[in-house]
Amino acid sequence: MGRIIFWLVIAFGALLALRLVNTAKARSRNGAATGAGSRRGGGGGAMVRCVGCGVFVPGADAVATPRGPTCGDARCLRLGRSDAA
Ligand SMILES: [Zn+2]
Repeated sequence: MGRIIFWLVIAFGALLALRLVNTAKARSRNGAATGAGSRRGGGGGAMVRCVGCGVFVPGADAVATPRGPTCGDARCLRLGRSDAA
């Protein structure tokens, strides 16, 4: 009986160790991914949604149209200016 418990503890310990390694890896990956983009939070302005395609673009890069901000794509600009598709 003691042997079974011993191996269970070993198995859970191994799983916990693997999990810690994986979360550490994922965190460093996410940190690298968001680290480059986190600067926009400082003064770049909010993200706005393109009324044409629905993609989010920085407010500074958005092109204002009568119907709302667009990503600047020609098709989206057309959609933003009129209802005709
Ligand atoms: Zn668009």
